Amino acid sequence: MIVLDGKKVAAEKRAKLREFLTSCKAKGVRMPKLAIVIVGHNPASETYVANKMKACAEVGIEVEKIAFEADITERQLLTEIRKLNRDKSVDGFIVQLPLPEHISEAKVLTTIDYRKDVDGLTPMSIGRSVQGLPAIPSATPSGIRTLLEYYQIPTAGKHVVVIGRSNIVGKPMALMLMQRPYLSLPSVSAAALGDATVTVCHSKTQDLAAICRTADIIIVAAGCPGLLTAEMVKPGATVIDVGINRVEDPASPRGYKLVGDVDFEHVSQVAGAISPVPGGVGPMTIASLLSNVVAVYDMNVPGYKVSE
Ligand code: NAD
Repeated sequence: MIVLDGKKVAAEKRAKLREFLTSCKAKGVRMPKLAIVIVGHNPASETYVANKMKACAEVGIEVEKIAFEADITERQLLTEIRKLNRDKSVDGFIVQLPLPEHISEAKVLTTIDYRKDVDGLTPMSIGRSVQGLPAIPSATPSGIRTLLEYYQIPTAGKHVVVIGRSNIVGKPMALMLMQRPYLSLPSVSAAALGDATVTVCHSKTQDLAAICRTADIIIVAAGCPGLLTAEMVKPGATVIDVGINRVEDPASPRGYKLVGDVDFEHVSQVAGAISPVPGGVGPMTIASLLSNVVAVYDMNVPGYKVSE
């Protein structure tokens, strides 16, 4: 059984980006800039943003955090997003989700200029991907794709079961895998994966276990600790755990620990390959975000290409 070590693969990806940006700097080229918009004080979001900022600093991406209080109006936030769309000093930006309930995520995502959408979540980015046009890929699915590529786990002709149908993971993941070898921005990834037969499951799916047992690859993004058990996995199948759940842990100084959606202890005895939580998809998502920023920058500063 292989543990799909997202921490290691992400570190290698960051090292390549750092090397590329160091060479740009040596030539006197400006560095890329990412802006991160955060609304309110959701502790999990604050942790994710801090991790993204640290990763940016490590590779040489300039990063600006733009924080608003939770009572900012939707209209004010949309105005700020339009300013970022126009700001030539910013290569790309993200709006950390989730947003407070009075702000429509759909309106926010629709307002972000897709050419700066380094999370790859706007309707334009997703729609362009659906049609096979060059697009910035969604960060989490793109990170999963890189992990599968790194461990040379083929998807062509395989049956992939995706559990979860969210706009940020389940749907773009399913699209990416079912597509003919995926056409993302040229410098983002070699992107050889695709050509899979994909089944998308969700909370209303009947007999999830039977469907999962037919899968060569299972990707779980449901937010339910312990959802995928050993009985649901075909021997030798690949299991990717996207879930991040806080569960109480009196032994931890924080009082909680992070677990995925997979019963790792038992599933790892049946699966051929499995990604852990933490240390699996999480770091890959951040590495993909960085890669998207550098890809957009690469187009804004022509003549410097990422060599992957
Ligand atoms: P979500 O929370 O918006 O929705 C959950 C999805 O799972 C829904 O489509 C629902 O139908 C499905 N689902 C819920 N319970 C189910 C069940 N019992 N059986 C089958 N399907 C079920 O989805 P999301 O935003 O994609 O988040 C899913 C999980 O992935 C969360 O734990 C989230 O924290 C995590 N996540 C991790 C990363 C990362 O980088 N590692 C990125 C995004 C999300």
